[in-house]
Amino acid sequence: MASDCVFCKIAAGEIPAEIVAESDQTVAFRDINPKAPVHVLVIPREHQPDIASLAAASPAVAAEVLEQTRVVARQESYEDYNIVFNTGAEAGQTVFHAHAHVLAGVDVSKLFL
Ligand code: ADP
Repeated sequence: MASDCVFCKIAAGEIPAEIVAESDQTVAFRDINPKAPVHVLVIPREHQPDIASLAAASPAVAAEVLEQTRVVARQESYEDYNIVFNTGAEAGQTVFHAHAHVLAGVDVSKLFL
């Protein structure tokens, strides 16, 4: 755990969040500033600064993050959804603990892809 990391603190239960799913290696909770009808973040319990670092250090955990995106979307009654990984400050990442944005209810790909 990184002592100054807000997402480590959420995973440890030290600061509140609306948790919607948990697995051995991951926690999923609602984004505090939702950009879509469903906007959930899936994080690894392990602290890594971004998804590529997580994949390099712990590929099975990175795969579990991806698996959990579908669990969350289905739980929210969506089969189709977008996953966004902002990776690096210049790409808009503001919290440097790996996280998948799970977005459903709007096709965000139309905005920028
Ligand atoms: P961006 O802020 O540009 O979306 P990130 O990809 O790093 O950059 O996303 C961090 C996300 O974490 C943001 O969507 C933000 O609203 C969310 N967030 C920050 N703090 C909390 C918190 N305490 N609980 C829930 N979501 C949070």
